[in-house]
Amino acid sequence: MSENNGAAVAGIEHADIVIVGARIAGCAMAIRFAEAGKRVVLLDRGARETDVLSTHYLQDLRLWDDLGVLHELHALGAPPLHSTRTVMDGVDMSVHHPQWPRMCVRRAGLDEMLRRRVEAVGVPVRTGLTVSRVLTERNGRVSGVLAIGSDGVEHRILAPLVVGADGRNSTVAKLVNAKKYAVTTNDRDAIWRYYRNLPTPLEFQLVRDGRDIYFMVPCDDGLTLVVAQPTRDDPRPYYRDRAVFEENAQRIIPTLRGLFDGAEQVGEPRQVRRMDGYFREAAGPGWVLIGDSGHFKDVITGQGISDALRQVHALTRRLLPAWGSPRTIDRATARWWPERDVDARPMYYFSRSIGLGLPTNSVDVELFRYISTSPRRRDNLTLMLRHEYNPRRLMGLPAAVSVAKALGRAQNSASQVFNDAQASLYRQFGRKQAR
Ligand SMILES: Cc1cc2nc3c(=O)[nH]c(=O)nc-3n(C[C@H](O)[C@H](O)[C@H](O)COP(=O)(O)OP(=O)(O)OC[C@H]3O[C@@H](n4cnc5c(N)ncnc54)[C@H](O)[C@@H]3O)c2cc1C
Repeated sequence: MSENNGAAVAGIEHADIVIVGARIAGCAMAIRFAEAGKRVVLLDRGARETDVLSTHYLQDLRLWDDLGVLHELHALGAPPLHSTRTVMDGVDMSVHHPQWPRMCVRRAGLDEMLRRRVEAVGVPVRTGLTVSRVLTERNGRVSGVLAIGSDGVEHRILAPLVVGADGRNSTVAKLVNAKKYAVTTNDRDAIWRYYRNLPTPLEFQLVRDGRDIYFMVPCDDGLTLVVAQPTRDDPRPYYRDRAVFEENAQRIIPTLRGLFDGAEQVGEPRQVRRMDGYFREAAGPGWVLIGDSGHFKDVITGQGISDALRQVHALTRRLLPAWGSPRTIDRATARWWPERDVDARPMYYFSRSIGLGLPTNSVDVELFRYISTSPRRRDNLTLMLRHEYNPRRLMGLPAAVSVAKALGRAQNSASQVFNDAQASLYRQFGRKQAR
């Protein structure tokens, strides 16, 4: 330990990879790199027990199996879910999907499970360390980070690759000047509560009624998560007033009627507001961004956690065989960046269109009806959330049928249907702010 301008300085450390942020993306990356025999430094500014503000519906359990933690995930006690009830403006698109189980696991347990796994593969999880600078070589290439401990000690960690896994307000992104692009204004906030003794069926339920959206899902420890997703301009006090939250929940999700009387709310309500979507430049000389630090979408489709795991999987497949010189590392991260975008873009715009704060238009409601009448099409909705069916396929035959049906309804004028079709199309293909 030495001193620099009065601050205590720990000795310089060397690693193959330094990962900033020890949650979904960071832990997954640490596990993959440690298993490949690399020297990993994983750090996080939060104390070990801090929780993250996020709901936690897991769409695709294969990703956890692939990471080697499926057994540990099941051990957290959340029931596997084999049914999804999706009702959009009265159109029921429910699916029974025992072959594609899902799960809802609160983040405190989920993140801790991943951190334990990181430690089991030999990497200490160093909490209470805030990265405040990136270190660079003479040619400008990032070569490490400077982190300050909660005890005020400065740590310099040098590595050929710095990974920003530090969430939406990523410090690493700011330090390397990674710019956002394709930004979308998402229309909804999220307010949620946990309940014990809420005897709901073992299924995920999402109901949209006009502009209102609620969803509900059983999770670990016998709790049920109930989430309101009001539009940003909705003045009702869902967070402050439990009665308002529950009255609306029962109005929108009929299976909840009368059930809150015998239920106990566990913990405090939670909320997140103003969650705009974005992509960020994902890679540059000596750095790469994964998870929310590089991309965030409307949370309504519950994709962020799965996306982080998918990104880590694809990135490590590119990086590990290329590991060697800074040039080969940078080339691998640069090649992965467009792959990330291709994987994420269709679901990005689909999520925004589902979360839109406008009433469902004449074409979209026909699309819901079209999907609802066929078990195969309803299955495709489930496959979509597992990235096995591209949402853009809805813009082919399904959209054509929906427009024809909308034109056939006496209450719709041709110009209205034309405008609605155009709006739906633009939303799916990412025209900026298209309504
Ligand atoms: C309201 C809401 C609901 C959601 N619901 C779902 C859902 O149901 N299903 C789903 O799949 N996804 C959901 N998501 C998305 C999901 O939360 C994220 O995609 C996921 O948390 C991304 O994980 P991450 O590891 O990238 O980042 P994070 O979980 O944000 O972790 C980042 C870590 O970086 C650390 N950090 C930040 N800055 C520094 C620094 N300077 N130095 C050191 N450490 C730092 C932080 O302390 C933090 O621990 C939801 C998100 C929100 C906001």
